[in-house]
Amino acid sequence: MKASAKIAILPGSFDPPTNGHIDIIERSCSLYEKLYVVVADNVQKQCLFTADEREQMLRTILKDHDNIEVVSYRGLVVDFAREHQVGVMIRGVRALVDFGYEFELAMTNKQLNPELEVLFMPTSPKYFQLRSSAIKEMAAYGADISPMVPPLVVQMMRNRIKLLTL
Ligand code: ADP
Repeated sequence: MKASAKIAILPGSFDPPTNGHIDIIERSCSLYEKLYVVVADNVQKQCLFTADEREQMLRTILKDHDNIEVVSYRGLVVDFAREHQVGVMIRGVRALVDFGYEFELAMTNKQLNPELEVLFMPTSPKYFQLRSSAIKEMAAYGADISPMVPPLVVQMMRNRIKLLTL
């Protein structure tokens, strides 16, 4: 079936989801009839949370949005897009450093799935410094991450770090 410009995908690791992620997800879902938030279940990447845990966190946080579906996927995002008639992939960009990597990825994805258009959405200024990897590091050293992530994520991070330091 043909890709639809009304269906979009926003893929990522979301390890863990941050307020920056939620901001681009919510801004994107108001532009499309349906938005798939796809949690990359990447066997090569070492994550703090399993794909199931990341999916459950996002489901709970985004439960009030009827047109968002959160799924985890093991495979190429371009293949998920093809299987679900997705016409648009949104990637958030924080700073110029993100852009070089994102641009190359967009070139590769276009070759793999020419029907999928990639659009870049700049971060909201208040979230431009938020990065999952930095948040994990700060949390490990006991910093207060509550201004950076949803309350559920604060709780999940506390429990996970407690377990890891036992
Ligand atoms: P990261 O580990 O760098 O946070 P993810 O793979 O989890 O990245 O990100 C998923 C998507 O969200 C990507 O398009 C990424 O560029 C975007 N993103 C991540 N953080 C932010 C932010 N603070 N503002 C806008 N977009 C963001």
